[in-house]
Amino acid sequence: MFTERVVQTGKGRLHFRRETLTGLSCRISTERIRRGIDRSDCPPFPAEGCPFCPGNLPADTPVFPDGRRILVGESVTFPNLYPFAGWHTVTVVTRDHVVPAFTERQISDALEGQVRSLLGHDGYPSLNWNYLPSAGASLAHPHLQGVVDSVPSPLPGRYLDGSGRYLREQGRSYWDDLAKAEREAGRVIMDGEILWFAQPVPLGEKEIRGILPVSHLSELRPLIPSLARDLLRIIAFYREIGTHAFNCSLFFDREGTAGRGFRAFCSVIARINPNSLSLSDSAFMERLHLEPVILTLPEDLARMYREKMG
Ligand SMILES: [Zn+2]
Repeated sequence: MFTERVVQTGKGRLHFRRETLTGLSCRISTERIRRGIDRSDCPPFPAEGCPFCPGNLPADTPVFPDGRRILVGESVTFPNLYPFAGWHTVTVVTRDHVVPAFTERQISDALEGQVRSLLGHDGYPSLNWNYLPSAGASLAHPHLQGVVDSVPSPLPGRYLDGSGRYLREQGRSYWDDLAKAEREAGRVIMDGEILWFAQPVPLGEKEIRGILPVSHLSELRPLIPSLARDLLRIIAFYREIGTHAFNCSLFFDREGTAGRGFRAFCSVIARINPNSLSLSDSAFMERLHLEPVILTLPEDLARMYREKMG
């Protein structure tokens, strides 16, 4: 499902990988992790003035056209005040500004709030999470973002096109073949309702990807308990290996489409921890060459998961 070219350097091996379906590429340099720039200490984020804290939220966040917000458990969902999509909602996950450990209920309720806020809006939906400012969150208070656009963004677009083409040409589901390949390759992280594996051609550091057994947002609800449980396990694994900050996106096909060979998938990547020097994990390779430099071999990541999480 991908090709690899390995180059020996003075210090180690560079793995150049390219995913066959999408043409996405990355380079993996395991030596670079020895620089040790990512500290695991996470500075405090003061709650003062936070618009997502319960005391400020009613005055500082907008409401839907019906004058309401969506309340599920302790989660609160409302339109994004500064949208960058045709339809863009925010779900504040917890009342607490800082959360030592999320509960399954908190994540499930927030996902349900997201689903309610997006269903009925025509287009390509995704659920997204920037956790902590070093992962791009402008507010540290945990929140999800739901986005629907009439045209898919480039990444799901490539998989929509690619898996449709694969189905036409091979007569089989790309995702079924991918699941088989990942199980054989030993990169599987969790194998339940959702199959999670260490993505062999990662988009970002320590990418863990999950394939859902559905294609559309309207089919997500029965899977929310599994999704919440699995995400918490991934977050726990990341914490175990020193990562606090992450990005997560879950992509769906447009409603009303069938037989296009696409499966909803979720991608989680580790980000550099918040740090006082503004050290970044995105530089010219990621931003201008559009080819991420990855420090952890996916095969090693799957092994680390088995060692730490059993
Ligand atoms: Zn807050």
